[in-house]
Amino acid sequence: MFTDIYSPLQQLKHPILSQFWMKRDDLIDPYISGNKWRKLKYLLARAFKENKHHLVTFGGAYSNHLVATAAAAAKAGLKSSAFVRGEEVENEMLMICRLFGMNLIFTDRTSYKDKTQLFLQHFAEQPEAFFIDEGGASAEAVQGCAEIIAELPGDIDHIFCAAGTGTTAAGLLKGIQERGLKTTLHVVPALKGGQFIEDEIFKYIGNTAQLVLHTNYHFGGYAKTQPALISFMKDFVSKQGILIDPVYTAKMLFAIEDLIATDYFKPQDKIVALHTGGLLGILGMKEKF
Ligand SMILES: *Cc1c(COP(=O)(O)O)cnc(C)c1O
Repeated sequence: MFTDIYSPLQQLKHPILSQFWMKRDDLIDPYISGNKWRKLKYLLARAFKENKHHLVTFGGAYSNHLVATAAAAAKAGLKSSAFVRGEEVENEMLMICRLFGMNLIFTDRTSYKDKTQLFLQHFAEQPEAFFIDEGGASAEAVQGCAEIIAELPGDIDHIFCAAGTGTTAAGLLKGIQERGLKTTLHVVPALKGGQFIEDEIFKYIGNTAQLVLHTNYHFGGYAKTQPALISFMKDFVSKQGILIDPVYTAKMLFAIEDLIATDYFKPQDKIVALHTGGLLGILGMKEKF
């Protein structure tokens, strides 16, 4: 299962841009979706190498990373546990985690802050337990995401991605630098105050010259939406026939559309938007549609 995967590059219909493409990482797997697979790939490889058969990780009750880890563990024949932030709840995403055999440990918000401590408290006696940080953030994750660039043509002018921690963005920028491309990486934080993402990326790769951060498309904050975003999303999905999620990819695509409206690009620019998957997140927002 750790052999090569490859996701298609699909052209989007657009009235102005003739070279607007989407890298469909959402099609990699319905549950180990998009960037979450890229981020887990080398972590799982290291877990195997170190003979660790129990993945232990962290996330909120609607975390795409938890679903991805649960599904990847089941597929690889590993056990999985997760510390879930906050009081005990039930929802569709956690149900899917349980179905994949993940053991859920609900953790109050104060204890949740010290992840190393939590891991030691619960798993110190279990040598097969393997620590995976929230969202899979790690050097391995950066390496896995850098591989996305190797699957793309070398002459792209602009690549866009959404960001939560910035790990995926760091990987993309690493890939761009390693191949010596002229591509600009545009990052759209899904949360308020996203300026910190630049520091995160810098920590991993030490050079952010080809990075442009667009911090004004958070729509009120993480997992927050506004009517303009929801109507944009409905329009995009019905016109393109590609499902996107309101937490990440809809905000990124809204940003691109907004930049097009201000003549940010040349009409012949080659633009690729990364579909990072995470479509189950829609299940937490049923009342919005
Ligand atoms: C987790 C996630 C992201 C954020 O990735 P980071 O590496 O944390 O920046 C983006 N898009 C989707 C759909 C996600 O699930």
